[in-house]
Amino acid sequence: MPTPSSTACPCGRGPAFDACCGRYTRTAVPAPDAESLMRSRYSAFVRGDAAHLLATWHASTRPATLDLEPGVQWLGLEVRSRRVIDADHAEVEFVARSRLGGRATRLHERSHFVREGGCWYYVDGDLFTKDPA
Ligand SMILES: [Zn+2]
Repeated sequence: MPTPSSTACPCGRGPAFDACCGRYTRTAVPAPDAESLMRSRYSAFVRGDAAHLLATWHASTRPATLDLEPGVQWLGLEVRSRRVIDADHAEVEFVARSRLGGRATRLHERSHFVREGGCWYYVDGDLFTKDPA
């Protein structure tokens, strides 16, 4: 079921999707910083927006196609830290919680972003596998 665009943004920051991540997922407006891009990508996962995920994936690491797992229930996003390395490189550490078939999953990742031609792109990420719950 599609999420109405007037509801709270899935990323947890904005009052409404349209005023938050919707600005970047549904228009040609580039996200102004790595954290905003990371949040818009989380919202795209929640909304099943594979097109936005592929469009914001750096060409060097982007998969040819993206099959979003059906039935995943996203529970929330928590941005732990963000680090600006230089004008065109940044890192964002986050925890995203989801549930699939009754099993809770916790994704803890430090994502790497690069800016090219004024647009931020997701490059890859380091998973934190050993992490106290
Ligand atoms: Zn948002």
